[in-house]
Amino acid sequence: MEKSDRNQSPSNRELARWDLDCVWHPFTQQREWAQSEPLFIDRGEGVYLIDRDGARYIDGVSSLWANIHGHNVEKIDRAVAEQLTKIAHTTMLGLSHQPAAELARRLIGMAPGNLRRVFYSESGSTAVEIALKMAYQYWRNQGDAFKDKTTFLRLNNAYHGDTIGSVSVGGMDLFHEIYRPLLFPTFKAPSPSCYRCELRLKPETCSMACAREVEHILDRNGWQICAMIVEPLVQGAAGILTAPEGYLRRVSEACKAHDVLLIADEVAVGFGRTGALFACEHEDVAPDLLCLGKGITGGYLPLAATLATEAVYEQFLGEYTDYKTFFHGHTYTGNPLACAAALASLDVFAENRVLEKLPALTSHFAELLEGFRDHPYVGDVRRRGMMAGIELVADKASKTPFPPQDRIGHKVAMACRSHGVIIRPLGDVLVLMPPLAITADELTALLTAVNTALNEVMV
Ligand SMILES: *Cc1c(COP(=O)(O)O)cnc(C)c1O
Repeated sequence: MEKSDRNQSPSNRELARWDLDCVWHPFTQQREWAQSEPLFIDRGEGVYLIDRDGARYIDGVSSLWANIHGHNVEKIDRAVAEQLTKIAHTTMLGLSHQPAAELARRLIGMAPGNLRRVFYSESGSTAVEIALKMAYQYWRNQGDAFKDKTTFLRLNNAYHGDTIGSVSVGGMDLFHEIYRPLLFPTFKAPSPSCYRCELRLKPETCSMACAREVEHILDRNGWQICAMIVEPLVQGAAGILTAPEGYLRRVSEACKAHDVLLIADEVAVGFGRTGALFACEHEDVAPDLLCLGKGITGGYLPLAATLATEAVYEQFLGEYTDYKTFFHGHTYTGNPLACAAALASLDVFAENRVLEKLPALTSHFAELLEGFRDHPYVGDVRRRGMMAGIELVADKASKTPFPPQDRIGHKVAMACRSHGVIIRPLGDVLVLMPPLAITADELTALLTAVNTALNEVMV
């Protein structure tokens, strides 16, 4: 029998063998992984991740875009520990508990527009899945008048999660295309990103033709579209693609004009990442449904929420036998430990005046990023708030990418490790999205390390 003495810590080699023999990692070519030496993170401290040998790394992507205030934040640690002395889990089906009710009230108090109801789940994918089902059923519950509103409008390059429903509204062929036969049909509009404009236009002269495409689709097909889903301001997973200013506002107005619900997926951009608490605030947009995840607990525990307006919510009310109920709910919906972490994270936002301090931090970030623009292999540098992407290309003038088998982005990320930085690229886009709690000096250290690694790989 395999040794599994919990009191005796396994050696790094043993652990590596257990991982390589037993674990199937997400978004990972396991053949490549099998040739690698897995790095085991043991502890966290502020913006640092610490491995089993005590080596420290700046968490350059906030442990996959989730962490906000750093790791081991005393206030959040304490809130989770205190909740743990009461109860770790109970159900929201037929019961309630204090952290869930308190958190819902707090979220409603700060959410953009007229959002009034909070539906909990555990991941961004499920928050999206729930929004899609709510939007669909919202029209069904109104009887035959809207019987044709059965499909969705999605954007190219969109990423909304990995479940089949959220993949149906996704637009990243590399991840999604193979599943297309399993997915429900949708209308699709161009990605609102200028560096590789799908419409081959220039931002100075195009009058935002990508938004006009959305207007056209809604003009012609709004009668059969129940909702449009967008990642406000930044298409994250496609490579931190920043949308032109005013795009979100324009498509939200088009949705309103055509009786199409707007689902704002703020799973990545929410909780301060773009400089405002929610990205919709930048363009004064009031979505009908809002998806939250990732940073909602400060990056501590799996929790997500789908917020709905009262107008959406009301269509689900009736006698039991009207069967207008939203028949959906996960076992761990509204987990008390996760809600306690989320409440504490909101407290830390207020106490540390996180949002007030962001303008100074983001302008420092912007300055540091400028230094990358002239690099011979940097095609584009994109940033919104504290989210940035540095796109590496083989040829700047023609924007020709490197061959995928060169694994350039991956190589730079690996090289970063020997300079005390953890990042995870998206293809050849180096993503930098540190916790909002990072100091100016730590931010300088992060970008200096990335620059050094880049030059090592690109000799
Ligand atoms: C990460 C992400 C999701 C999916 O969240 P998971 O918690 O990974 O399921 C959905 N939408 C956006 C915009 C995301 O960035």
